Formats: sequence, structure tokens, C-alpha cells
Amino acid sequence: MIREETVFGPIKSRRLGNSLGINLMPVNGKICSFDCIYCECGWNRDGRDDTRLPTADEVHEALETKLLRMKAEGTPVDSFTFSGDGESTLHPDFPRIIDDTIALRDRYFPSAKVSVLSNATQVHRKEIFDALCKVDNPIMKIDAPTNEWIQKINHPAPGYDVARVIEALKQFDGDFVLQTMFLKSRDFDSSTPEVLCGWMDIVRLLKPREVMVYTIDRPTPEEGLQKFTVEEMRSLLDPLIREGFHVQIKG
Ligand code: SF4
Repeated sequence: MIREETVFGPIKSRRLGNSLGINLMPVNGKICSFDCIYCECGWNRDGRDDTRLPTADEVHEALETKLLRMKAEGTPVDSFTFSGDGESTLHPDFPRIIDDTIALRDRYFPSAKVSVLSNATQVHRKEIFDALCKVDNPIMKIDAPTNEWIQKINHPAPGYDVARVIEALKQFDGDFVLQTMFLKSRDFDSSTPEVLCGWMDIVRLLKPREVMVYTIDRPTPEEGLQKFTVEEMRSLLDPLIREGFHVQIKG
């Protein structure tokens, strides 16, 4: 499902309250440095009809228009979440858009939190890391512990190296959220000891302030994927929970 707006919502959620989504990708397309087998936007190859990114000015205008309307209606905004049809940090003006969003948040809804959902492929770039440090919740994805496993679940663009991503994430000094999808496909299973133990070692190394684990919720581009129940995930994550990590599980 491709979102057709640059600013969408608000979506009501128990955790985030009234959340506005910000999509920095084309209104009728998908651009990502991953091509995950579970991506709710579909395969990259099916989202190439439109490749025009919104400019920073257009994002600013769309966001301010929405915020003015919500103010006038008396609807509160509790959070802003960058989570579009692809990878927001690939937008060439991502740092400026973050600055603009924080300025608009401060002007209209100063208590709202800004979150960025990212696949962490660009975090080694200083300007991207610096921008991510300004938001309340940089939520960074690592689904598996080795390049070989990541190839099976995320299909990264050439040049991806999980070791480089881990090195880059160390710069947060634990002040970030790690997000991980748990699923089973024909050649990948998050619960096998080699995947699970390797991933847990990454968690122990990076010490994120929160670990968000979730499973499939919507139709996926690859068929036949299996989800985990909340109980199964809780049991798999029990060692980390007992070690004191803040683990959030979404079924
Ligand atoms: S990183 Fe996110 S947007 Fe990119 S393919 Fe994976 S799920 Fe889709």
C-alpha cells in the first residue's frame, strides 16, 4: 500500500496518541535502500512509476497547513513520525526537513515527540546522524545479525554491511530505539539460535534504550510468511528482558 500524501493522519494510537505521519518519498512511488520481504509498501520494482521527491519547501508547507487546520479544529498532535513509502534518510534535504519539523513542532504543538523510522543504512553519514540526534525517537532497524541473513529478509542495496551499521549505531551511545521484525519465511527464521543469539549479541553491544520487536500485521510482497504470537516473542526475548533491557513487543 503506497501512501499518497506527504503528510498523512492523524492516526490514533495507544502509544503515540494523535500521530501525524510524514512521507518524504514520491506520492505514488516507493524508494528504499532495502527491499524487505515483508514491506507493507510492496516491492521496490512495483513503486517506480513516480520518482519525484517532495522538496523541503513542499514538506514544510504541507506540514504547516495541516498543523494550522488541526489547531483551528482543536485537535491535538502528540507525535510526528517519519515513516513513508521508503527510507526517509535518503531524501537529499533530510537534515533541513528535520530542522523545519522541529521548528514547526515547537511553534504549534511543543509537547509532541518527533520520531524517525529508519533502516539505518545512512546513519554512517555525519549529516544524517546529526539530524537523527535532534529527534526524540530515532528508531533504527536491524532484523538479523549477519549480511547473509539480512540478504534473505531485507534485500539491501549493494554495499550494505551490517558491521558498518553497527559501528555507526554505536555513536548513539545507547540513546536510540532498535526495531526488529520477527518472522519466518521459506529460508529465514528469526527464532533459530544462529539468528536470535547473534541478534541478541548486537542488542547487548549497542544497549539501545528500548528494543521494539514486532511481527507481520499487513499483506506482504513475499507470500507464505509466518508471524509469531506475542507469547512466542516474549518467550524468545526472555533473556533480554531478564537482563533488564526495555523490550516492547507488538503482535
Ligand atoms: S526498510 Fe522499511 S520501507 Fe524499506 S523495504 Fe524495508 S520495510 Fe519497506
